[in-house]
Amino acid sequence: MESCVFCKIVSGKLDAYRVYEDDAAVAFLDLNPVSRGHVLVVPQRHAETVTELSDEEAGELFAAARNVAALIEEGLEPDGLNLLQNNGEAAGQEVRHVHVHVIPRYFEGDGLAVRFDTEALTEEAASRVLETLGQA
Ligand code: 5GP
Ligand code: ZN
Repeated sequence: MESCVFCKIVSGKLDAYRVYEDDAAVAFLDLNPVSRGHVLVVPQRHAETVTELSDEEAGELFAAARNVAALIEEGLEPDGLNLLQNNGEAAGQEVRHVHVHVIPRYFEGDGLAVRFDTEALTEEAASRVLETLGQA
């Protein structure tokens, strides 16, 4: 897709600090890292969100993210690691080419705060969701 920045990076029209590449995916440093070694993993084929990928493509993307995670663990020795994948504006997706964030975490502190404001699941809420999903 011509106007897509990640397609431009995949094709080499736009520079990026590439850290990994295979037949299905490319990985490069995020321009605005939340921590040292924050990497984006993108499929070579343009797709907007995760559900636009086939089962096979989704598997290949996750395998590439796993490989990048292993590289980061070995090279940067972080204290932990988050995989983050945003779909749609409400979920914080800014670039409309599906991607997985691989974010090394450090006890010394970084720019990522993952907070879940939760409430306990009720039986009624659970059955309503399961009914909607056809699993009741
Ligand atoms: P999203 O919010 O869509 O999940 O994340 C998009 C990420 O892409 C952001 O963290 C942003 O810093 C990064 N980004 C946006 N444009 C570019 C670019 O041209 N090059 C690189 N390397 N990263 C980019
Ligand atoms: Zn694209």
